[in-house]
Amino acid sequence: MKWFKKTFISVCRGTSGIKSMLLPILCVSILNGYAADRVRIKDQFTPLAENSVHLNGYLEDYIQNSIIHWNKGVVPYAALVEKFRTGRAFFAQGEMWGKAVRSGCMLYGYTQDPELKKILKATVADLLTTKRANGSISCSDISKQPDGPGGDLWERKYVLLGLDHYYMQVEKDPAVLQAMIDQADCLVAQIGPAPKTRIVDQGWSPNHIESSTVLEPVMRLYKLTGDQKYLDFARYIVEVEGGAKGYNIIEDAFNNKVPEQIGGVYPKAYEMMSLFEGLVEYYRVTGNERWKLAFMNLYRNIIATEITIIGNGGGDQPYHPAVMGEGWDNTALEQTNPNIKRMMETCTGVTWLKLCSQIVRLTGDPLAVDMIEKYAYNGLIGAMKPAGDGFSYVNLLNGVKTNPEGWGGMVGGVYVTCCNLNGPMGLAYLPFVAVMNSASGPVINLYNAGTATALTAKKHPVLLEVVTDYPVSGTVIVNVKPKASEKFTVRLRIPAWSKTTAVKVNGLPVNVVAGTYAEINRKWTRGDKIELSFDMRCRIIDAPHGSNRAGDNFQAVTRGPIVLARDESRDAGFDQPVTIKSKDGCVEGALGTNNQQPCRVLVDIPTDNGVIQMVDYASVNSWSGKRVCTWLPKVK
Ligand SMILES: [Zn+2]
Repeated sequence: MKWFKKTFISVCRGTSGIKSMLLPILCVSILNGYAADRVRIKDQFTPLAENSVHLNGYLEDYIQNSIIHWNKGVVPYAALVEKFRTGRAFFAQGEMWGKAVRSGCMLYGYTQDPELKKILKATVADLLTTKRANGSISCSDISKQPDGPGGDLWERKYVLLGLDHYYMQVEKDPAVLQAMIDQADCLVAQIGPAPKTRIVDQGWSPNHIESSTVLEPVMRLYKLTGDQKYLDFARYIVEVEGGAKGYNIIEDAFNNKVPEQIGGVYPKAYEMMSLFEGLVEYYRVTGNERWKLAFMNLYRNIIATEITIIGNGGGDQPYHPAVMGEGWDNTALEQTNPNIKRMMETCTGVTWLKLCSQIVRLTGDPLAVDMIEKYAYNGLIGAMKPAGDGFSYVNLLNGVKTNPEGWGGMVGGVYVTCCNLNGPMGLAYLPFVAVMNSASGPVINLYNAGTATALTAKKHPVLLEVVTDYPVSGTVIVNVKPKASEKFTVRLRIPAWSKTTAVKVNGLPVNVVAGTYAEINRKWTRGDKIELSFDMRCRIIDAPHGSNRAGDNFQAVTRGPIVLARDESRDAGFDQPVTIKSKDGCVEGALGTNNQQPCRVLVDIPTDNGVIQMVDYASVNSWSGKRVCTWLPKVK
């Protein structure tokens, strides 16, 4: 069968043979989805089929706002395609099309919105007309290829990803598969060991890390086609070059280096994680535990040293000011450092979310979902423009929270930045992560209200209805509705932050442990009900101690997955020192009435001096220059 598929692909790709209408259709029917026999490592959890999850309320408001005003709104698709005809205006600009289409395809998978499909279909057709004589879709003329300083490989990576997502989630169009194959074949022909151009000699950045991130779409294409040369190319990136010029990034992660010290002067957060997303795919296929150890070390070290209270990471101080806040910088420890001016790029947060989704799929580690939840409810939606048409570039915890300027520029009359393009991808991942499947039944990861159709142990559909106003309250009801009674396991993520969680099945209590999945294995019958009550007590978080001991003077307040903050637009004394009344780290905060600016969660917090109002970090609107105070100065 393997040989048959391979032969069929080479027939499909042949340029001299007859390109009848029939051949591509046959090819595609064989290649419908990734082939399981090319993957040695089985995931613990698998995503549900497209259109199986429907969220409503809280997170869904942001998702719909983005679909309407970004993906179906201002994205200048035609002008983005035009860059492949007339060339880029500045380095790497050809990344924009693939990023815009990638999030659109993910969101189409979620909504099946015909209007979105029409937009995506038209822009993909438009892009395919830009294919050059050598098969590449590139902003660089063939005579200039490969075009390192222009960002050619990084751009081709995003073309591949945009087309791959279209093929996997929107339409199995053989012309799209062929375009991916032609693009990759051109890449493989140009890049590699001498006499070809080395991949680490390609790129605009000091260590050229971005070029090697093409690993991810190359592995996705290998899984689609089974063509050995793509796996060989991936092996070249991973095992010969190691990801960057002068630095073996993968080896450094394997050796447990902290992220801030990986890649020399350029520990670029977003691109580094993007490389490791590809390494996860490479591990799935090769099964070599060395690669798993490398990305698991990186994942744990990012959590330990980089991720801030709102779930994103990276900063411009104290070690890497030249990386402009886009590099790892021991940010978990440095997050109250007053010298930080730029931190937590949205591209970094979204790529972190995506990497965490790979980790939970592969290993079933609930901490990866804790990380996703922390970023989703705080950093991600906290970076989004209220009008839904973009995202902040870098973000601050204290000061003006958002920053509309960023890498990018005007295209087709729209200000397009890397982060405007990546933010919607973060939103698109929320329904993808919310509910998954294990071999023994559904896995509930996120508790936003909605419905999901998962599979039982015997692969029968089971409808899950999640009824809640979470995270406003911590009460969640899950109605479990299998078609027929069956014994299977429902996994429920019990967040590490929920120190005491009450879970009942049909009124009977079940013991659960924070920071694990509760595994409820029983015969489920339509009408069974799970009730969860999470620990929503407000908690004081002491500032971490980085190089700047000013951290000793700050504390923050969280409530469930939400980080609370003071908002200048509600409170002129928003950044003044306070003494919060607390006992054993808990604060008697009460949900307050929102009588000023719109916000999602408002809590009255008792202090020695009365009460202060705090709102969810995401609701603070800094777009007009008003400031946020997340780390509250203490009265000395
Ligand atoms: Zn960005």
